[in-house]
Amino acid sequence: MRSLSPVRLAAVAILLLALPILHAEDPAAWTTPLTPFRIAPNLYYVGSRDLASYLITTPQGDILLNSNLTSSPPQIRHSVEQLGFHFSDIKILLISHAHSDHAGGSAEILKQTHARYMVMDADVSSIETGGRTDFAHFTPFPPAHVDRILHDGSTVQLGGVTLTAHKTPGHTPGCTTWTMQVIEDGRPLNVVIVGSVTALDEYHLISTPGRPASYPGIASDFAHTFDVLNALACDIFLSSHGSYFGLLGKVARMKTEGPSVWIDPTGYKSAIAQSRVDFEADLARQQAAARHHS
Ligand SMILES: [Zn+2]
Repeated sequence: MRSLSPVRLAAVAILLLALPILHAEDPAAWTTPLTPFRIAPNLYYVGSRDLASYLITTPQGDILLNSNLTSSPPQIRHSVEQLGFHFSDIKILLISHAHSDHAGGSAEILKQTHARYMVMDADVSSIETGGRTDFAHFTPFPPAHVDRILHDGSTVQLGGVTLTAHKTPGHTPGCTTWTMQVIEDGRPLNVVIVGSVTALDEYHLISTPGRPASYPGIASDFAHTFDVLNALACDIFLSSHGSYFGLLGKVARMKTEGPSVWIDPTGYKSAIAQSRVDFEADLARQQAAARHHS
C-alpha cells in the first residue's frame, strides 16, 4: 500500500476525530417532516424522513410505535392529526429500542396522551433512567415510567389488533422487533418492523484485556438476532430507521405504484443478510485487532 502524505494523513486524522461528533448529531433527515401516509389498513407512517414512527389504529384507540427524538412529539402529533386521527386516542406507546432517537419523545407523549408505556424487559432500566444505564452512554433523554414490562414473545392487544414483541438484542439488550398481520384486499400480510441490527462503531463485541465487551454476550446476542429475523415471515418490511428499508425511494414509487411498494420480502431478506455480513466483518476485525495486540 502506498504511504499517505503528511497532509493526507492529517486529513484522515481530522476525519476520524470528527466521526463520533457527527454520529452524535441529528442528521437533517431525523428532524425533517415527511407527509404522513397509510402503509396498509390501520397502519400509518407518522415519522420524519428517517426516524420512523408508526400509528396503528383500532376501534378502541390507537397504538404508537416510537416517540423518536425529545424534539419529535410536535412533528408526530401533527402527522397523526394530518391523517385525521386524535393524539389523545393513543392508548399504548411502544418503542423499537431504548435510544434517544426512538424513545426520546416518550415522556412528552405520555404526558399528552396518558398512554400505557410497554417496553422490553432488558431496555426498561435505560428508559426509566433516560439512557443513563445504557452500555454505550449515548445522548440522554427524559426518563419515563414503564407501565408494562414485555418479554420475548409478549403480545400487545387492543381493539382486535395484536402486535408481537420479538426480543432481538445486540443493538440494545432489549431491542425489539415488532410483528403484526394486516388484511389487504382480503389477503393477510405479515408486517415486520425491525428494531435495529447495527453494531455501532463504539460497540466492543468481544472482551480483550483491559477492554470488556460492551455487555456480556453482545456478540452471541447479535448472532441470535439474525437467526430470529431470518425465521420471521415478512411481506411488509419496515424498521426504526427509514434508510434501512428504503423509505424515501418507496414513498416516491408509491405515487405511481400504490401501497404495494411496502410489500418487499426480498428487500427484507437482503437487508438482514447484508447486516449479518457487516456484523461478521466488524466482529472479525475486532478479533484480529485483539490477536494483533496480544
Ligand atoms: Zn439505536
